[in-house]
Amino acid sequence: MTSSSKTNKITQKEIGEYRGQVLVWYDKHGRQLPWRNQNGEAANPYHVWLCEIMCQQTTVQAVMPYYTKFLSTWPTVHDLANADNDDVMAAWAGLGYYARARNLHKCAKVVSQDFNGKFPPSQDALKELPGIGDYTSAAIAAIAFNQPATVMDGNIERIMSRFFAIKDALPKAKPIFKDYTARFFDGYTERPGDFAQALMDIGSSICTPKNSKCMICPLLGGCKAYQQNIQETLPIKTKKKPRPHKFGEVYWIENEHGDVLFHRRPENGLLAGMIALPTSSWGIKGHNTQMPKSLENIDFQDYNESVDHVFTHFDLTLSLKKSIKNNALFLDENFFWKSPNDMADKLPTVFKKPFVQFMINYK
Ligand code: SF4
Repeated sequence: MTSSSKTNKITQKEIGEYRGQVLVWYDKHGRQLPWRNQNGEAANPYHVWLCEIMCQQTTVQAVMPYYTKFLSTWPTVHDLANADNDDVMAAWAGLGYYARARNLHKCAKVVSQDFNGKFPPSQDALKELPGIGDYTSAAIAAIAFNQPATVMDGNIERIMSRFFAIKDALPKAKPIFKDYTARFFDGYTERPGDFAQALMDIGSSICTPKNSKCMICPLLGGCKAYQQNIQETLPIKTKKKPRPHKFGEVYWIENEHGDVLFHRRPENGLLAGMIALPTSSWGIKGHNTQMPKSLENIDFQDYNESVDHVFTHFDLTLSLKKSIKNNALFLDENFFWKSPNDMADKLPTVFKKPFVQFMINYK
């Protein structure tokens, strides 16, 4: 640990006492979420895994309808494993970060076939499964199997930075944060899952990035940042580089029957395997936009509209182009014609936006 640790003398006995206070708070105020243990029953590992994958980079509120839809369509991990990949991707459309959905389906197959539908309980074994990394394996081990694992998501990171007044900057200081977090989790076998979920709840409702409600926080008595009145300045994060802004075109191509041309994206790269509207290459201002070869002879009308979308690593503006009454196109197998009427829910958000614009004038 760095210099921060010298000023943060707090004993393990005190840590144990604060953990107890957090659990008392949780028993009274914890959120009732459908994947959590209810009425004394252990949480279902399939439910915990599903919600943990869905909640990565996504709010609980946004996840809820997807979680419900997945469980009603595929009530068990065997059902999900046997589902058609297109159906899984379509059910995920709109939730973003589509690599998660591909790995979700792969993981379901491994658990169904190699583990007879039962998730392994140890963090190490969980980490071997597709799409399950350090955080998710710890969360599933603790929440679904009550294993002592150090769970550290963004909320817990923020609480730790404040409780111990850690002034080292993220993301480089992640290992330091993990050491501090482990002081709460290491060797704790009684209720590690509840404790992790309690911290998640405190992070989302009390120890918020701005205007934290310290007066009702069960950690108040030991919180070093509060004592120094620096809680709003923590955690310190290294400034990210400005995100590039890319541009491209998106195409609405109708045939004589009013069907529209859709494209299945390649199996690798951004939005891999997702159904999309055809699009050009994307690049920063001044790049030479290239459309797919098979669309080069089409006459497009400018639509005088564009849509913006924000990805994790760049912003995107797509200009809309439209062409009707096309039939004799030489298309590869990744293009297909389809009535647009039932396609909106199958598209990721970046394509749903232009789709909605085009549909306004679709007859
Ligand atoms: S006392 Fe305030 S800053 Fe400290 S952990 Fe609680 S809410 Fe966060």
